[in-house]
Amino acid sequence: MNNGTSTAVLVTDLFRGDGPFTGIADDFVAMVCGFCGQVFDADGRFTIDRFVCSTCASVLSVVSK
Ligand SMILES: [Zn+2]
Repeated sequence: MNNGTSTAVLVTDLFRGDGPFTGIADDFVAMVCGFCGQVFDADGRFTIDRFVCSTCASVLSVVSK
């Protein structure tokens, strides 16, 4: 799944049907934030383990620093 040099998520990993990526793919398709649960229509961000709206992405990036 990972060559050890990149944190990019491959589409094949997203839709492989196992692991945490299934939930991320579902959130991506539905455009639902994986953190606040709101539906949004633009500017989603992938984090290491979820797909979130831009507001939560900002919050999470601040929290993780
Ligand atoms: Zn959110």
